[in-house]
Amino acid sequence: MKQWKRSMKGAAVIGLSTTLVFSAGAINGKKGEPGPPDHANGKGEGPKAEEVENVIFMIPDGFSASYATNYRIYKDGEEPIWDDMLTGMIKTDSADNHVTDSAAAGTAMSSGEKTDNGMIGMSPEGESLESILQKSGKEGKATGLVATSTITHATPAVFGASVDNRDDEVSIAPQLIDNVDVLLGGGRNNFLPESEDGNQPEENLIEQAEQDDYSYIETKEELEEAESDKLLGLFAEEEMAPHMERPDEEPSLADMTDGAIDSLSQDEDGFFLMVEGSQIDWAGHAHDAAWAMSDTEAFEKSVEKAIEFAEEDGETLVVIAGDHDTGGMSTGGYDEYKANPEILRDVSATGDKMAAELNDKRSNAAEVLEQYADISPSDKEISRIEEAEDPALEINSIVSEHAYVGWSTSQHSGTDVQLYAYGPSSDLFNGLLDNTDLPKQMAEAMNIDWD
Ligand SMILES: [Zn+2]
Repeated sequence: MKQWKRSMKGAAVIGLSTTLVFSAGAINGKKGEPGPPDHANGKGEGPKAEEVENVIFMIPDGFSASYATNYRIYKDGEEPIWDDMLTGMIKTDSADNHVTDSAAAGTAMSSGEKTDNGMIGMSPEGESLESILQKSGKEGKATGLVATSTITHATPAVFGASVDNRDDEVSIAPQLIDNVDVLLGGGRNNFLPESEDGNQPEENLIEQAEQDDYSYIETKEELEEAESDKLLGLFAEEEMAPHMERPDEEPSLADMTDGAIDSLSQDEDGFFLMVEGSQIDWAGHAHDAAWAMSDTEAFEKSVEKAIEFAEEDGETLVVIAGDHDTGGMSTGGYDEYKANPEILRDVSATGDKMAAELNDKRSNAAEVLEQYADISPSDKEISRIEEAEDPALEINSIVSEHAYVGWSTSQHSGTDVQLYAYGPSSDLFNGLLDNTDLPKQMAEAMNIDWD
């Protein structure tokens, strides 16, 4: 963590010049338009101490401050790896809304442009935008995407595709093959033709990828054995399993991160890799606090892999930022000064799985909660589950109440989210940035022109 401490010192100086530049802007009447982050000012202050060859951009989808706090308590005294990597916060609004979706947030974080919710790698007017991954590829760097959703889902898609509707995963799949060297995640169906129960009208994109020198893999074991610098790993027909329910043959997010780094680091020109903890967001939408914590843990293990590599390599910048908050999670709630997320460690199934274990009359609700959540529900809680329109949501609400994890929406919220960085040039990520600043700062770190 030596490099990190060094960059912290530089950050204090840059922070000071930020204040000066912003107040000068206000005098010139540029209020509300502070311009690009003035870390650019740091440019004239001398050469960069270290070169950045590789960038690993890690996005825990939906992860905001309350997730970080609850997770710290959940870990029971053990400090999460990112706690001493915090450099700032980012604003998350999209072009058409104070509350972004993952498509617009991802587009901002990959292309540096705000767009409307739902758009993938495109401006609101429908113009295709070039991502930091694509710019890195043009510089001869190897490129990769890792996710536990379908690999064609919004957050990975924005780095290698442009479509005007995030649900159009059928159009996203061939673009990813054209633009990205290593693709690891779920969503095999979006690469197979209808004649093989897939979603592509005619094409078999897996066969096409193999003709294009990709090694195609489907299991954790095949990933461990893979040696190619071009990999297409599709480990589930649709999304991969939640971390707490993951079958042995599926690689974990950490396994995929490791595999992607192994493959990409064969390139002498360096690489750009994006890793998404996709399901933290889904857990937030479902108010499933245990799933959120468990998938945050899976994400932390993948960050450990990235930091391990970066530490040894010395020329790798690791940046971590959620794209928005999901669910308006709180630490504590329910009219008490109390938080108890550590009980979530004893939960072994998602609310969806628990609901699926209920019998027709839901008369086994108490047994299900005892078995999978280690909670003995009250009579009132049992009848809430029996009468619920959505039993999974009701189970998740009860578990959240026991953990004192609050929720304010089933959608996203517009709050700022934390920004973390490790390695050379991590001081470029200091302060309150906009989500559109991130790819530009990464380009600057890698000496790639941004126009
Ligand atoms: Zn979401």
